[in-house]
Amino acid sequence: MLSLKDPSLLRQAALVGTRWIDATPETGIAVTNPATGSLIGYVPNLGTFETQDAINAADVSQQAWAKRTAKERGQILRRWYDLMMENQDDLGRILTAEQGKPLAEAKGEIAYGASFIEWFAEEARRAYGDVTPAHAPDKRIITLKQPIGVVAAITPWNFPNAMITRKAGPAFAAGCAMVLKPASQTPFSAIALAVLAERAGLPSGLFSVLTGSAREIGAEMTSSKIVQKLTFTGSTEIGAMLYAQCAPTIKKLGLELGGNAPFIVFDDADLDAAVEGAIIAKFRNNGQTCVCANRIYVQSGVYDAFAEKLAAKLASLPIGDGFDDGVVFGPLIDAAAVAKVEDHIADATAKGALVRHGGQRHALGGTFFEPTILTDVTSEMSVATEETFGPLAPLFRFDTETEVIAAANDTDFGLASYFYTRDMARTWRVGEALDYGMVGINTGLISTAEAPFGGVKMSGLGREGSRHGLDDFMELKYLCMGGI
Ligand code: ADP
Repeated sequence: MLSLKDPSLLRQAALVGTRWIDATPETGIAVTNPATGSLIGYVPNLGTFETQDAINAADVSQQAWAKRTAKERGQILRRWYDLMMENQDDLGRILTAEQGKPLAEAKGEIAYGASFIEWFAEEARRAYGDVTPAHAPDKRIITLKQPIGVVAAITPWNFPNAMITRKAGPAFAAGCAMVLKPASQTPFSAIALAVLAERAGLPSGLFSVLTGSAREIGAEMTSSKIVQKLTFTGSTEIGAMLYAQCAPTIKKLGLELGGNAPFIVFDDADLDAAVEGAIIAKFRNNGQTCVCANRIYVQSGVYDAFAEKLAAKLASLPIGDGFDDGVVFGPLIDAAAVAKVEDHIADATAKGALVRHGGQRHALGGTFFEPTILTDVTSEMSVATEETFGPLAPLFRFDTETEVIAAANDTDFGLASYFYTRDMARTWRVGEALDYGMVGINTGLISTAEAPFGGVKMSGLGREGSRHGLDDFMELKYLCMGGI
């Protein structure tokens, strides 16, 4: 059993509207630790009926919540943030147990996730409207921002805490209610958030966490006329399906979907900094993030040196159970994730790529995989077009800036991109030329509550975080005042 300072944070129950529903081993869904395969606990297997209940409760609760002052909403969110930070250790342990990432990284995610609640607690009071010079002498034009209403959220397993807070923070700050379906692999982090939200004073019914059949819960969320917006983080494939399911009721959509991030190292880069950045951008969370570098383009003059330094760095980073001290690489989430990495390696090596480092399942067994570097990678290989979502760094060689920009943009996706250079003019040129929602320049870490996160093309719709993040959960209303 997972040892926690506050065992009540690991609750084997779902919050449906105003009531908790306990899980039983007979009917519940088992949640296991990917590092050991051992059972953590059960969550209820809920479906259509409970989703309707949660949506109805959200509808009632939201009306009262929207009438509270922004300051009151902000204060409750602030308490929620404080509780998350006070319980950072326990939340981190729950996260490592169900997701596998090393404990230090998990605790980092809790702080990162909490920062969205803190940020939007502050932003709640800044949902300003406008008074616009009118088109007629006897009229006045006023614009208000109002909460969009009941929001449904579906979140993935790779950031079991932060992908929720990034949505819940702005939703509650704006005056919305939220019905959440977390990933079945990592529900306990979501449930712990709900326990703390209750303690912080979030009104009953405003926040539901539904565990169970994604298809059933998703179908109810997307067809409901009460739900005004769906916010989803996950694969482009499921995102497109949910987009279609939302069409008949014309829902607003926030979609954070797949990426295929290029990471470009120019000859004039600080090579050591580029290696550090690549470790973060490629290998954080074992390559299982949507902003992970998927294609690493290295200019010819530094190609061999970069490969050597990257391999040396990887060799120094320990792999193991996320609870063990100093571990940097935990297990992958499941067997399918391992199979995808193996497929990409097999496809690339069959077409001429060379394994420069790693390349195998790790001796620890299970879903542990060696962080891998491939060299001599070309655009014909699957890694060039598909997201690997694993610890595989394919190194493509290039000669000119024009060539690499064309290659980097030759994808249906447009979430994150990265490049390293010390030339100021190139910084601007390449920064403007990359068709991506986010560009990291001389850094491999770009996500923060203060900045707008989101993609273009098939990577999604909308932005999360930043001063723009609240707008995704609000509608503009225009009042035309006449007879003045
Ligand atoms: P990932 O590769 O991150 O698991 P998915 O898109 O498969 O990406 O899953 C992301 C989230 O979408 C998870 O919470 C999953 O349960 C949910 N999901 C998967 N299939 C469906 C579906 N048919 N309807 C609604 N939600 C779904």
